[in-house]
Amino acid sequence: MIQLDSNIEFLKGVGPAKAEALKSELGIFTVADLLSHYPFRHEDRSKVVPIFEVPRYKDVYVQFKGKIIPGGMQGQGAGRRYTAFLTDGTGELELVWFQGAQWIEKYLKPHSDYLVYGKINDFKGKFSIAHPELELLTPDFQLSKLGLQPVYPMTEGLKRRRIESKLLSQLCKMVVYSPGFQMPENIPQEIVQKFKFPTRTQALQMLHAPRNVDELEWAKKRLKFEELFYLQLRHLQLKGNRNRTYRGLIFNEIGEHFNTFYQNFIPFELTNAQKKVIREIRNDMKTGKQMNRLLQGDVGSGKTMVALLSMLISTGNGFQACIMAPTEILAQQHFESIAESIEPLNLRVKLLTGSTKKKERLATLEQLENNEIHILVGTHALLEEQVKFSNLGLVVIDEQHRFGVAQRARLWKKGNVLPHILVMTATPIPRTLAMTVYGDLDVSVIDELPKGRKPIRTVHKHESSRGLVMDFIKEEIEKGRQIYYVFPLIEDSTKLELQSLMSGYDMVTEYLPTPQYKYSLVHGKLKPAEKEAEMNKFKRHQTDIMIATTVIEVGVNVPNASVMVIENAERFGLAQLHQLRGRVGRGAEQSYCVLITGGKLSENGTKRIRTMVQTNDGFEIAKVDLELRGPGELDGTKQSGVLDLKLADIRHDEAILIAARTEAQNWLEKDELLMLPESAPIRNELGKSPNRTIWSKIS
Ligand code: ADP
Ligand code: MG
Repeated sequence: MIQLDSNIEFLKGVGPAKAEALKSELGIFTVADLLSHYPFRHEDRSKVVPIFEVPRYKDVYVQFKGKIIPGGMQGQGAGRRYTAFLTDGTGELELVWFQGAQWIEKYLKPHSDYLVYGKINDFKGKFSIAHPELELLTPDFQLSKLGLQPVYPMTEGLKRRRIESKLLSQLCKMVVYSPGFQMPENIPQEIVQKFKFPTRTQALQMLHAPRNVDELEWAKKRLKFEELFYLQLRHLQLKGNRNRTYRGLIFNEIGEHFNTFYQNFIPFELTNAQKKVIREIRNDMKTGKQMNRLLQGDVGSGKTMVALLSMLISTGNGFQACIMAPTEILAQQHFESIAESIEPLNLRVKLLTGSTKKKERLATLEQLENNEIHILVGTHALLEEQVKFSNLGLVVIDEQHRFGVAQRARLWKKGNVLPHILVMTATPIPRTLAMTVYGDLDVSVIDELPKGRKPIRTVHKHESSRGLVMDFIKEEIEKGRQIYYVFPLIEDSTKLELQSLMSGYDMVTEYLPTPQYKYSLVHGKLKPAEKEAEMNKFKRHQTDIMIATTVIEVGVNVPNASVMVIENAERFGLAQLHQLRGRVGRGAEQSYCVLITGGKLSENGTKRIRTMVQTNDGFEIAKVDLELRGPGELDGTKQSGVLDLKLADIRHDEAILIAARTEAQNWLEKDELLMLPESAPIRNELGKSPNRTIWSKIS
């Protein structure tokens, strides 16, 4: 019987050299490791294509059966290659080897039957396969027995050593059908039965050596569930541990600050969604549990007011609060609007950023430690070691995905007791992603915009009709409105960015000349103070048009601005476009977003632009974004566990994800510490793999 923990070196067909390669390249040491290296797709190898049909299969992997007629060596030096021809009675196809040509020449058996597999290249109507997979056929060969062939993730290093997917496939097949093969179950029996899953043993047999598509799908369903079940279980355990380990600050009352502000000074009525979210936050804060809450809401849904009211609960209970923004401009803006709106309360609000002058900073730090500051607003500067609170009660992180992991981790050390934590997203993220990335946080959603907002009208224009756009801008400015005009940020090059912005500025001023039209210019090269000055001119309506790169992307609030023009709109991601568009539509006037593109759009670009034109709904846009980019490309997902998923894809496996979450939740409710005998499969599985660090642990 083959033991799961035995070294792969001793499997038939491996040996020391291959074992070494598999260890160093794929981390496969044992038989169990081998089986947990899942194939990422399967190919139907029970079919062959007649050669005359080749033109239909350009750039596609296809399988043929035929005899090989040797050609010969051709070319010189680096271009040296060996060619042969495959014939099957319907046509002839060229086979080429650039590497290992001598070896191939020596080992090919002329005029014997081969199974040939590879990708069809089309060079000006001449078809060939480079480096095909070859299998010399024996007389008892039966095509129908080949069936679905798993394809495993491989590395270049392995290919160089002539270790191919096929070897892994052979090894896995041998192991899973070896006598007495048993894979210990890792999901409780009850759940396996409830979902009519195959056993783990069956699932691995059907994944590594499927006999048909149905059985493969059945296996995948279970194995995906398994992955997602453990991901969710870890999130929930983390949450549970935290609740058991840390006592949260208890805010007994709503407090005077909140009440006074709410009754007398709040500038508008809260939406029902805002009220609901405040209640959720309030409930967390009074129970003695430490709040770890994610606040999701579309652009313009009024997250800032929720943050402010939460901070007032903290201060009203005698605790300090702070809010952190990703940029100086935003911190400045929060500071001003908070200081202004709660002025009657006589609380001390301070701003701390990288550009706060030394004297000012030292004074602030001292007051902070002496409990003379109620609310501190700032940027990353709040994370510095010298920043010590006297009694921090609540941390709000605005537009959080710009904060890195390590930065957030440092928040924990800001007080003797852990403060409550409220994380706010810049734009919505789909529920599946939230469950995967922030699975250990409680989630609140503002699913309603303030009343009276007119939906922003979005149009797509080709750059050839830029003149019309400029005419439209003129009209809006005449009506007293202001305009954002955005050019793409050129990554990693502030010099290029400046150039593109300058030529953009020249172009716009040709239509809308100075000094008749007044401009603010904001870009990455400006010092924070300069940026702020430009922003402020725009805010105070001393300028009509703000020309900017995406530095204005997040959070900026100028209600009189009614048009957002975005040049080269195809270069922006969906979340970014939606954020930018969210800068308008904040006042009572009808607002517009104009997306300008040049040349021909890619399929993906077309989809992005079309989505923007069709909908204003951030949750909808987030779904399309996830669809188009995949979980790995989204901000903040890098270390989240989403990328460690081998089979599941949260874009397509939502139902399985939700089932896994529910089952994990139910199980922990029944047996939180996993002490029951029926929890044994879970205990074993968790014991085997060290608890992976989940990124959101430190949120
Ligand atoms: P975001 O959720 O994008 O951070 P903000 O908090 O900046 O949105 O709010 C957008 C605008 O809506 C601000 O001008 C804010 O004052 C206003 N606002 C927030 N809540 C309401 C409400 N309930 N009624 C009317 N206006 C509101
Ligand atoms: Mg905001």
